Amino acid sequence: MARKHFSRKERVRIFDLHRGRCHICDEKIQVGEAWELEHVVPWELTRDDSDDNVKPAHFSCHKVKTADDTAAIRKADRIRAKHIRAVPPSSFPGGKNSKWKRTLSGKVVLR
Ligand SMILES: [Zn+2]
Repeated sequence: MARKHFSRKERVRIFDLHRGRCHICDEKIQVGEAWELEHVVPWELTRDDSDDNVKPAHFSCHKVKTADDTAAIRKADRIRAKHIRAVPPSSFPGGKNSKWKRTLSGKVVLR
């Protein structure tokens, strides 16, 4: 399922729906200020393009939040990968393709 593309008309509709407020800092977005539509809960987690989840945000506010979200998504992925043991064998120390090896004393060193 692809991320929804918002037309200009839709962007204006959602902007008006939320009275032109940035959902992150709760300030009004002024004329001429850069803003964009933002998924309140990251789209990657919910695939939710509804009006409840898509709100306008200042570009600068969005950038900060996106960095946070990306970190959260990466962390969730990492934890899940570890949980299901999806870590590729090559990343294990001593694995055939690993640049790391485990010495007899148990220390992990570069090959
Ligand atoms: Zn803002």
